[in-house]
Amino acid sequence: MAKIQMKTPLVEMDGDEMTRVLWQWIKEDLLLPYIDLKTEYYDLGLVNRDKTDDGVTVAAAEANKKYGVGVKCATITPNAQRVEEYKLKKMWKSPNGTIRRILDGTVFRAPILAKGITPYVPGWKKPIALARHAYGDVYAGVETRAAAGDKAYLVVENEGGVKEKLLIQDFAAGGGIVQAVHNLDKSIQSFARSCFNYALGANMPLWFATKDTISKTYDHRFKDIFAEIYEAEYKKKFEEAGIEYMYTLIDDAVARVIRSEGGMVWACKNYDGDVMSDMVATAYGSLGMMTSVLVSPEGNYEFEAAHGTVTRHYYKHLKGEETSTNSVATIFAWTGALAKRGELDGIPALTAFAKKLEEATVRTIEEGEMTGDLVALFKAEGVTPKKLSSREFLRAVKRRLDA
Ligand code: NAP
Ligand code: MG
Repeated sequence: MAKIQMKTPLVEMDGDEMTRVLWQWIKEDLLLPYIDLKTEYYDLGLVNRDKTDDGVTVAAAEANKKYGVGVKCATITPNAQRVEEYKLKKMWKSPNGTIRRILDGTVFRAPILAKGITPYVPGWKKPIALARHAYGDVYAGVETRAAAGDKAYLVVENEGGVKEKLLIQDFAAGGGIVQAVHNLDKSIQSFARSCFNYALGANMPLWFATKDTISKTYDHRFKDIFAEIYEAEYKKKFEEAGIEYMYTLIDDAVARVIRSEGGMVWACKNYDGDVMSDMVATAYGSLGMMTSVLVSPEGNYEFEAAHGTVTRHYYKHLKGEETSTNSVATIFAWTGALAKRGELDGIPALTAFAKKLEEATVRTIEEGEMTGDLVALFKAEGVTPKKLSSREFLRAVKRRLDA
């Protein structure tokens, strides 16, 4: 069989520890035998980030902007212990943070479902993709304590002096706490466009929720910006695609999501997304089954697994012991990127291959062959789950892909 040819290269960002090992094996077993893989390679492993003074991360993000589609392996975000372990020149910033700043995107997380791995919410039959706004609100808040007798004000100034001064609280009766938060119209607009674009790409309805009944100016601004952009730029496209955009209150959204069968994109403000993404991820089962994609408002995509470098498994691997690390989310990062590249470059064979690889991966689990993290979760009549090593799992997927 002739290998599938590519046109534009994928931006390939290599990473660290166990996921770096899986990265290589996925390419060897599942990609290179079938595709004439064209990538522009950036080594975001911590050693090379240190060597290049983190220049490689910036270069990779710029390349992602140039070519439109990237695929990234999990990377170490250094802390004090890592600085010591890798003898780093400095405590480099999170590569994901750097890439996000350069691409200005929104992160969407979505679970990969397989029969036998039942979500903790049994009604959920389809994936819920969660979009978290990653700018502002309480994450960029200013806060302080007030003593008895203090008065706290919200003051807005411009060149002409004080424009507005609102009393927050008169602490006459006793001390307390005060907090001020902000957001930017531009950031909310980017967030909205990323969400509308992702929903169209995934052909899933979009739900957005805030607490605008209580927060009549702040949260209401989010609601209005989404509504304006929807009307002006997306309404027609949504109607053509047969999907809907729904705005509701956050507490109503929570109740509806739990009662639903899934299958929607759920856009959340920063704090709601922080809390709800962990809830949704846990409810679907394993971190090894959660994908993540950064979508910029200009339509650039960066695909990755939601989990980290799985350090504990890596140290076992270094000692020569077998590991059973779940590679599914990393495989899906590759298939997501390849399918998008195929779509943008008009190579249906590439998109079809990505779909086949995803099906083979899910079928491997459904037929009872899986990594250790899934064995405890797996329940299907007539199928006894078998725990495979990291490499055996990839070969089990390959067998199905070849069949
Ligand atoms: P982690 O690598 O996601 O692993 C946490 C634990 O979850 C693992 O020890 C393992 O549990 C389980 N797990 C996660 N992924 C798994 C998989 N694919 N297969 C099987 N089990 C899996 O998170 P962490 O330990 O907090 O962070 C490790 C490093 O990753 C850190 O240096 C951090 O900076 C980095 N990180 C990177 C990213 C990213 O690049 N996007 C995201 C998060 C963290 P058991 O040990 O019980 O088997
Ligand atoms: Mg969180």
